[in-house]
Amino acid sequence: MSGAHTDRAVPGADPRCGGEPARVEVLPARDVPLGGPRAMTVRRTLPQRARTLIGAWCFVDHFGPDDVAVTGGMDVAPHPHIGLQTVSWLFSGEIEHRDSLGSHALVRPGELNLMTGGHGISHTEVSTPDTTSLHGVQLWVALPDEHRHTGRDFRSHTPRPVHLDGASVRVFLGSLAGVTSPVPAFTPLLGAEIVLQPRATTTLAVDPAFEHGLLVDRGDVRFAGTVLRPAELGYLAPGACTVTLANETDTVARAVLLGGTPFGEEIVMWWNFVGRSHQDIVEARLDWEAASDRFGRVDGYPGARIPAPALPNATIAPRGNPTRSKGTR
Ligand code: MN
Repeated sequence: MSGAHTDRAVPGADPRCGGEPARVEVLPARDVPLGGPRAMTVRRTLPQRARTLIGAWCFVDHFGPDDVAVTGGMDVAPHPHIGLQTVSWLFSGEIEHRDSLGSHALVRPGELNLMTGGHGISHTEVSTPDTTSLHGVQLWVALPDEHRHTGRDFRSHTPRPVHLDGASVRVFLGSLAGVTSPVPAFTPLLGAEIVLQPRATTTLAVDPAFEHGLLVDRGDVRFAGTVLRPAELGYLAPGACTVTLANETDTVARAVLLGGTPFGEEIVMWWNFVGRSHQDIVEARLDWEAASDRFGRVDGYPGARIPAPALPNATIAPRGNPTRSKGTR
């Protein structure tokens, strides 16, 4: 396990890079049915009991490859969001996106689609009739308190792949492998797809102020010394100046590297909402149920809105990350 760390940054180059390398914490996925008439199941690794956030990333769903003829694909009726951005990133298939900003876009493989919910937005996501296999991730980014009531926004970006020895990297948010995404973020953030050739190893410079998460899609990938299997999310605490990824298999491997500075705020997550208090959630739920202008209207979806579920009886508690102590610097 120690061998993977021999190619870390030059000692003394950055005082934040020294010391004992942090151990990767393996976050397993759990299967979650998305619900609705055509129930598609996703593998969720964030949030979970052991961890709420990696940087501002607060939600990681991984799905497919799904044979749409069997699963029915994706059909998510109008539903609201507050306090977050949604990131759609596909490996295969195509999703039609409509939102209350008036956006109508096709989400395609290798293309970032970033929707900012801010104070309130609603949208639909439906896999297109031509889609035979649906495969990708949906991620949420929590907005920091000072920006969580920002206006709605939607944008797309298709990063050009960077080819390294044994790997290719598509940077959709932040900076990696000498590329910076032009898409702005509200907190320091990294999101990139990394494809590794069979048995290839690559070392990438990263910001030591960032914590990182590697979600493996395909193959067994050794991340900072720990082997991750498909659908697992490996968490690495701040302090690394490089990360090394090694494909331990004889076929192409693929993973998504997420990162960001520790979020530093507790959040309240319920249904499709990210707030700071139980009251934030109660108000957003009432606004959705009242068809308030806060969420606007989605045109072009042939079906009813998704009603908000009943609130739990208990007050929804804020969630943070485990107190940083042992093993982190
Ligand atoms: Mn959504």
